[in-house]
Amino acid sequence: MDLSSDKIKPGVVAVIGIPFDAHSSFRHGAAQAPGQIRAVLTSGASNMCSESGIDLADRSDFIDLGNMRVNSDPDAIESIAANISELLKRHIRLISLGGDHSITYPIIKSYHKKFGRLEIVQLDAHPDLYDSYDGNRFSHACPFARIMEENLASRLVQIGIRSLNPHQKQQAERFGVEMITIPQLETVARIELQGPLYLSIDLDVLDPAFAPGVAHHEPGGMTTRQLIELIQQLPAPIVGADIVEFNPQRDLSEMTAAVTVKILKEVAARMLT
Ligand code: MN
Ligand code: MN
Repeated sequence: MDLSSDKIKPGVVAVIGIPFDAHSSFRHGAAQAPGQIRAVLTSGASNMCSESGIDLADRSDFIDLGNMRVNSDPDAIESIAANISELLKRHIRLISLGGDHSITYPIIKSYHKKFGRLEIVQLDAHPDLYDSYDGNRFSHACPFARIMEENLASRLVQIGIRSLNPHQKQQAERFGVEMITIPQLETVARIELQGPLYLSIDLDVLDPAFAPGVAHHEPGGMTTRQLIELIQQLPAPIVGADIVEFNPQRDLSEMTAAVTVKILKEVAARMLT
């Protein structure tokens, strides 16, 4: 993470890698994602254009800050939050590349200090609302429980959910989470958002056929096309985003890497529009 760059000007959209997967409950490997995403983004396999025609290669308001240095557990949450706060002081908007989904809690803690209570749209197969998972309250299965109990969000809209168990259903009701499950996907068009909006994308929202490189395969998910169109149609100004849970160790022929790069370009274009 290079804070000395003169490219860091107010209003830029900056990519920051957060190579942290110590709170993954099942398989580790998501910490390798930021490097792999950059390698594919700059490989020449595809150009830097979004579908709307924004060429990220030409934009001085789109920058890459490299990877954050994250303290190892148990200080990781505080260290991520401190780094994000430091970046937000520069009046930039961030696209954070995970890492596992545990990073979203410290990111939102810092965003809340700057923006107050955010509207959060979470795209995920899983609600990640466990009070605790395997004895870990900071597990990647828990970040949205922490966010909601600390009152950091004015709304949490979860889209793509298809693994709701009774405990998480109870948690969702307790926190007033708005949930759009996969069978309800056509109702997404009716969501009204005011912003400021934070977008958190767990790649397992996609069907494993499209994105096999994730720790938890949950069949029956979105197509890549559905996810792209959802991002393109989000109505509110986006102040921050994360793309998490890509696990290169699980990928096949760099398929998920290519999907992640595509999603990154679409999110960046949406933030720059
Ligand atoms: Mn998930
Ligand atoms: Mn998740």
